[in-house]
Amino acid sequence: MKYIFVTGGVMSGLGKGITAASVGRILKNRGYRVTAVKIDPYLNIDAGTMNPAQHGEVFVLKDGSEVDLDLGNYERFLDIELTASHNITTGKVYRTVIDKERRGDFLGETVQIIPHITDQIKACIQQAAEEEFPDGLKADVCLVEVGGTVGDIESMPFLEAVRQMRGGLPEHDYVLIHVTLVPEDAMGDLKTKPTQHSVKALRELGLHADIIVCRSERVVGANTKRKISAFCDLPISAVISAATAADTYEVPMEMEKEGIADVLSSILGLEKKETDPSWYRLVTKEYTNRVTVAIVSKYGIEDVYISIKEALKHAGRALSTEVKIAWLDAERYERCQLKDYDGILIPGGFGKRGIEGKIEAIKFARENNVPFLGLCLGFQLATVEFARNRCGIADATSEEFGEGSHVIALLPEQESVTELGGTMRLGDYTSDIRDGTLAMKLFGQNQIVERHRHRYEVNPRYIEKLEKEGLVFSATNKNRMECLELPGHPFFFATQFHPEFKSRPTRPSPPYLGFVEACRANKRTT
Ligand code: GLN
Repeated sequence: MKYIFVTGGVMSGLGKGITAASVGRILKNRGYRVTAVKIDPYLNIDAGTMNPAQHGEVFVLKDGSEVDLDLGNYERFLDIELTASHNITTGKVYRTVIDKERRGDFLGETVQIIPHITDQIKACIQQAAEEEFPDGLKADVCLVEVGGTVGDIESMPFLEAVRQMRGGLPEHDYVLIHVTLVPEDAMGDLKTKPTQHSVKALRELGLHADIIVCRSERVVGANTKRKISAFCDLPISAVISAATAADTYEVPMEMEKEGIADVLSSILGLEKKETDPSWYRLVTKEYTNRVTVAIVSKYGIEDVYISIKEALKHAGRALSTEVKIAWLDAERYERCQLKDYDGILIPGGFGKRGIEGKIEAIKFARENNVPFLGLCLGFQLATVEFARNRCGIADATSEEFGEGSHVIALLPEQESVTELGGTMRLGDYTSDIRDGTLAMKLFGQNQIVERHRHRYEVNPRYIEKLEKEGLVFSATNKNRMECLELPGHPFFFATQFHPEFKSRPTRPSPPYLGFVEACRANKRTT
């Protein structure tokens, strides 16, 4: 197993995750099997209880773990499926060590950050790296991204564990990539001082950067690289420029041009292999069409819906159609605005705020034959809208929002739930698809497996009434409704699950493909 550790300097939000995922893609394009681990130094056990407006989307893995959005980047770039063990948090590490201490595993010892916490961190990294893929084989290379910025108090034990790991690994099995910021001053000159300082901070922890990736607005030239090379003790060829790309999927190509593959191969002792160019072809394919989709949400922050954005992009690429997104504030948009878009998408969400605006948008899509895609909460609100406006249940609502006729009700097994962390209906569940439906046309098979994250469902007591008025539940998991659609409408489709989590650039998600295709066919914008 070869380890590629990725640390970040200067500040957070530099795109360390995308850089690491791109390095993985470069190796994967050469035929190596790559896996990835993300370390989040916060105390939360997982991202499930964190506000997405602060921390970005909560990504859901097949095993139901709620994880950092970077795991989504790894799954998309590397086309793999990860598990809970691939997201290590301080919370998880401490909980395991404290549980061991209570059991008496360390009897007599003083339990300390070094060696007990650092040993546990090393064990977690190794276990995740060694985890077999579904085909029973292991990865050749494991990327380990250390979240946060070098110098943060929280990340200290993790960086110490990385330092210790280096000592225990053969020379060619370890490389450290440091991702740093190279800003421009008022004169437009690129400045290396922040990089020098963050490499100094790394050195104080006993770590040496083997490769430095410079994040900047424009390409970092030879002079700047030479300076960094001299100050940070590494060859100029190991200083890689990573200017902001138009599309994140182009980053592997840009880093490839910078020669990072050669540097990595020589440090890791990898044999030189031909690159499969299909990824590069895929992400640079020309668009011949364009559609604009309205996403009605209560958050003004796009990172909350990163997987939805990416899934739309994947579908768009496959259809040579650029998908532009207009973010409409669920509490503020004007109804007349809705006619300006080729399709309407209602994403997942929690809580009451903004739901009336979303229901209004669904009604508009239904009545005006505008393509509509509803996801999780969007699926539930489509049911509420239909119940109110087609079934005459004026007070139809979800139990989540308070009094009324609960066409959406709490899942029975949720009634006894008292803790909020990790207790939703999470991860992979199978759905059976009804013949002759849009769902069948989209997925092309009787059974699908998709990822979930919810506590509420269509109330079984209302299903007959809803179906009598023409709503079709086209996929189910036992007596649980998983997809809905409206025959006769150009495209009105919603899912209780989140198909965006399984969408890949190489394999777009079927509901997204169908939606973008319908938007293109119903195009109103220029
Ligand atoms: N709040 C809804 C539920 O818990 C929908 C969840 C979601 O959209 N992810 O069922």
